[in-house]
Amino acid sequence: MKDEITGKTKLAALLGSPVSHSISPQMHNEAFHQLGLDYVYLAFDVTPKNLKDAVMGLKAVGSCGFNLTMPLKVHILPLLDELTPAAKLAGAVNTVIIKDNRLIGHTTDGTGYMRSVSDAGFDIIGKKMTLLGAGGAATAICVQAALDGVSSIDIFKRKNSSWDKTEEFCHRVASETNCKIRLLDLNHTELLAESISDSTILTNATSVGMAPDIASSPIPDPSILHRELIVSDIIYNPKETLLLKQARGQGCPCFNGLYMLLYQGASAFTCWTGQEMPIEIIKKKYFSN
Ligand code: NAP
Repeated sequence: MKDEITGKTKLAALLGSPVSHSISPQMHNEAFHQLGLDYVYLAFDVTPKNLKDAVMGLKAVGSCGFNLTMPLKVHILPLLDELTPAAKLAGAVNTVIIKDNRLIGHTTDGTGYMRSVSDAGFDIIGKKMTLLGAGGAATAICVQAALDGVSSIDIFKRKNSSWDKTEEFCHRVASETNCKIRLLDLNHTELLAESISDSTILTNATSVGMAPDIASSPIPDPSILHRELIVSDIIYNPKETLLLKQARGQGCPCFNGLYMLLYQGASAFTCWTGQEMPIEIIKKKYFSN
């Protein structure tokens, strides 16, 4: 935020539940401050039940837009006027721009993830990814990886009630990109080992291993990880999940979800202000690994 709130200060927001732990307000307000932009970013605890009222309120008071976090990324869809192609393919939105009284839905989780891969010094274009999970973050990552030119993606998830919906998602993304996508059962250990054996990157986009569940790993046995495999966990709390510990033990290069969080926020910042977030300052202040 600028040094003072003025009569012209623009409002950006985070909607979700819970939100009190989020570092997005610090990240955005510090970036506004650094660039002297007259904006403020506030977090509001909003559930699916009062989402419509919250969104109409933000629209009515002339907010420039907002972020959505769990559990609202899909609930927002019927309230929007327009979706970017990536948000449409992913079926989830984490950033909304309010412009000319219209609500435009974007997804910056996927671009944030792909930028974090390059930032960690890796090139996965034209290569194979094994992706664990098929929730909001996983679908956004899958869409962006496919759009950016990852050659094939094996998605492993539990065979539960969302299996058929995920299967439709996989067909849709594969038919609209050049990426080969397979949906496989996370409990099929041999298939998982086989997929990992010729993958360049293993990405955990399940919530397994996230605090307070820090003693769990999404893989059954660390010996299926090979030394050339990049292992990435999008969880950032704890900074080193059990999966990343196992990967380090096997000699794999690895990284966590902190920079995905940073870069998804940086893209949202550009959506609202048209300016680049001062990444190095924000990284140093809030994202030291
Ligand atoms: P979500 O939509 O609720 O998806 C959760 C995923 O985890 C689903 O695929 C679910 O599997 C899987 N899962 C949950 N419990 C499991 C278990 N016991 N065994 C196997 N799979 C299990 O959540 P999300 O928004 O995608 O978030 C997922 C994780 O990513 C969270 O830890 C979140 O903090 C993190 N995240 C990080 C960033 C970042 O910027 N770094 C951004 C977004 C999310 P099923 O499909 O089988 O139910």
